[in-house]
Amino acid sequence: MVPALAHLRPREETIIDPSTVLVQIEQHLAAGLATDWATRAYTDVAIHVVRERLSQLPPNDLQARLVVAGFTLAPFVPDGDADDIEQSCATCMYFDAHRPWCDLPELMLPVRAEWSCILWRI
Ligand code: SF4
Repeated sequence: MVPALAHLRPREETIIDPSTVLVQIEQHLAAGLATDWATRAYTDVAIHVVRERLSQLPPNDLQARLVVAGFTLAPFVPDGDADDIEQSCATCMYFDAHRPWCDLPELMLPVRAEWSCILWRI
């Protein structure tokens, strides 16, 4: 499977500047784009469904990716257990802090440490 937005990787020849995409994401979310942030993907089945939906999207449909992945500009704080860790890109196993970048193959997007999505994993 070809990662949807792999062409945006800063290490490779880029078609679109990742910093431009970062600003676009921020603008969409700040403008109130209604993402599926409330439906967290905690089970293997739920994760698979979301990843499949992402892989079916047109590569350049950034807004649809944000909606399906449930992006937010702030960390998600689980309701229940006080020991639950805040879910942000900074604490996610897919986060590459050096670029910064989301390495989940179906996303492959520039992200900020304080953002979050429903595919967060530790
Ligand atoms: S998978 Fe992790 S790093 Fe990628 S956007 Fe979601 S929370 Fe951020």
